[in-house]
Amino acid sequence: MEAIIDYFETIPSLHRSLILVGGITLFWLLEGILPLFKFTYKKWTHAIPNMFFTLTTVIINFGLAFLLLKTADWVKINDFGIINWLPEMSLWLYALLGVMLLDFVGAYLPHYVEHRVKLLWRVHLVHHTDHNVDTTTANRHHPLESVIRFTFTLFGVFIIGTPIALVFLYQSMSLVATQFTHANIKMPKKLDKLMSYVLVSPDMHKVHHHYVLPYTDSNYGNIFSIWDRLFGTFMVLDREKIIYGVDTFPDEIANGNIKALLKQPFHKYRKPTTIDDVKST
Ligand SMILES: [Zn+2]
Repeated sequence: MEAIIDYFETIPSLHRSLILVGGITLFWLLEGILPLFKFTYKKWTHAIPNMFFTLTTVIINFGLAFLLLKTADWVKINDFGIINWLPEMSLWLYALLGVMLLDFVGAYLPHYVEHRVKLLWRVHLVHHTDHNVDTTTANRHHPLESVIRFTFTLFGVFIIGTPIALVFLYQSMSLVATQFTHANIKMPKKLDKLMSYVLVSPDMHKVHHHYVLPYTDSNYGNIFSIWDRLFGTFMVLDREKIIYGVDTFPDEIANGNIKALLKQPFHKYRKPTTIDDVKST
């Protein structure tokens, strides 16, 4: 564990980029071998806007990373934050707890808020308006959303008292985990279900990408599914019944256009339908 911590404390940017590219490549190949849905899309054309938003996410996170470093330094010097106030524990437990709490404050919480606050939902729309969810969807975040998520992570580092090594470890895990849960791959149903007791599984996250409520407002988890189970936001929907996208933004051409997506948060709020509305029409 100490070796892992040492490595992540000074992980070179090149290695972080390799994890990003390596993960996408791996899941891209798996999607060809064991696809969940047989999409009729052009895989590369579909990937262009998603790659663009992945790039803006990387740039924003890279540009603001110094704030994470400064905060992590400050909490260390001042012995501040939840995990530092707890009784002495093994390094393994300390790392696990740090990563889990970061997953809650830095990922579950902003995601939940983005679905609850109308203004933020309009920013988060870009992530949901993908009609063909695959591994490239993982970081399809409007630049404003990248800033929102970063702010929560920064607050997380402060309140949890996370050392920088754990922040970088968490970010690397989160990267691969989201590429995996968005990937258009079919795992055996039983294995997927078993996994979803502790971690977010591919099927579990796909429910969140269903085009209508109440499913869109469920399964906010990033790495660990325990937060959804704990706070009652866990939902199940058969993988065969899932339809990707958002009811209020059904234009597939616009949803694949970078310019239109950049402007998406600035549309007036559109009231969502629900499953019941759909049934009654
Ligand atoms: Zn969402």
